[in-house]
Amino acid sequence: MTTENELLARIPTDLYVGGGWRSASTGARFDVIDPSTGEPIASVADASPEDGEAALAAAHEAQRAWSRTPPRERAELLRRAFELVTERADDFALVMTLEMGKTLAESRGEVAYGAEFLRWFSEEAVRISGRYSTAPDGRNRLLVTKRPVGPSLFITPWNFPLAMATRKIAPALAAGCTSVLKPAALTPLTALLFADVLHEAGIPAGVVNVIPTTRAGAVTGPLIADSRLRKLSFTGSTEVGRRLIADAAPQVLRVSMELGGNAPLIVFDDADLDQAVDGAMLAKLRNGGEACTAANRFIVHEAIAEEFTARLVERMSAHTVGRGTDAASRIGPLVDAATRHKVQQLVDGAVSEGARVALGGAPLDGPGYFYPPTVLVDVPAHSGILREEIFGPVAPIVTFSTEDEAISLANATEYGLVAYVFTRDLDRGLRIAEELEVGMLGLNAGVISNPAAPFGGVKQSGLGREGGFEGIEEYLETQYIGISDPQATKP
Ligand code: NAP
Repeated sequence: MTTENELLARIPTDLYVGGGWRSASTGARFDVIDPSTGEPIASVADASPEDGEAALAAAHEAQRAWSRTPPRERAELLRRAFELVTERADDFALVMTLEMGKTLAESRGEVAYGAEFLRWFSEEAVRISGRYSTAPDGRNRLLVTKRPVGPSLFITPWNFPLAMATRKIAPALAAGCTSVLKPAALTPLTALLFADVLHEAGIPAGVVNVIPTTRAGAVTGPLIADSRLRKLSFTGSTEVGRRLIADAAPQVLRVSMELGGNAPLIVFDDADLDQAVDGAMLAKLRNGGEACTAANRFIVHEAIAEEFTARLVERMSAHTVGRGTDAASRIGPLVDAATRHKVQQLVDGAVSEGARVALGGAPLDGPGYFYPPTVLVDVPAHSGILREEIFGPVAPIVTFSTEDEAISLANATEYGLVAYVFTRDLDRGLRIAEELEVGMLGLNAGVISNPAAPFGGVKQSGLGREGGFEGIEEYLETQYIGISDPQATKP
């Protein structure tokens, strides 16, 4: 048996509900596909709406006891989960590579990043506090406390199958909330392995439930309408996010939305070009370009555009494309045929509008969904590729001459997740940060995601923040207790 098959044989493939494994109520299963071959590698139980209901019932039943579990105990369970994920890092990395395609090096990076949310929020669990103060008129006392929101539904995407789950589950557990996780249908195995680890760590029955399904709307819709649910946190496309916000409205359900991005990467003529090209490589090719934080538009000063482009083409052309498990691969396949088709359509559209292909530009032949690193120059400002998320290893380059022009190009999008700015002038960097409509900014840095920092966007990139001190607030309600002046009753 190969390492791959041996690992796949060890990963549970049923639903994790109420602390146990069970088949779908209908008995249905669905295949998980290896995007490097297009072949199935596992079959997973396909949750029905009844299974979704059972998962919410389990989360609801566990809520009271979990919210009363001492914060230190919750913290230690999270810490144990961090240790177990770290011990099993090789398993997590391999399963992630097998089901979504990225290279093992990328997957290991995600395991470290994803595990860190468990450690960070294990440390935050014991720091939830309120305040006691005197009202301005000196009479009443104000007691402000925090309490868990309650059972939460998490819907996550395929591009970071572990980290997008831990970024929600860790703060929820720390705050005292139970949860139901619906992972992406393309990548259920990582989530099921994670459920196995949480079980081993000793997370009590019902506190976390994991229900892969191919019927996302049919399974989650009734849960969003159910008054036992108190919170919805979604990471995925803006299109689906909008729909979920509407679905959440009748219950006035608290929502967190981590949606799409269209990150500009601005390079000024005073930038350190080595640093800018290194940053561009990371911002573009991390996760094979399948990241909401991926640089989607390269906005480069006209004086250095030629040199920047030449260096970027040279660096990107050296990236070997291949199966994520091959040591030589620097880029794996895209996740599926539809994703590759969309990338190709965006590239073809840009070319038909006048862009020139400086590198790549066409899918690779053979099995699997491989697409090579691609650089486009002379991309017209109205081109669709500058408006839509590319979600692939394609770098469209446009030029600018003034700072104001760079700002207006960067802000010309409904998205506002992250931007990257390369300049040696700190004043300019901070000035631009104040002008750009984004939730996050990388200043001379191509990757800025960090569990200790608040991750999230403005405009149609979402609502709320994950990670940092802010991340736990998404799972806490504030309660105010007004107290009459205790001095007034002094005998
Ligand atoms: P997606 O199509 O929006 O799917 C995300 C999740 O929503 C999946 O679990 C999906 O289930 C589920 N879903 C789809 N339709 C649904 C419905 N009607 N009701 C309930 N759930 C539904 O996005 P994706 O293609 O998986 O992921 C890529 C997107 O995620 C990109 O736009 C990217 O920018 C965004 N993203 C954002 C962040 C961030 O932090 N801002 C991070 C990572 C990714 P199925 O798998 O069954 O379709």
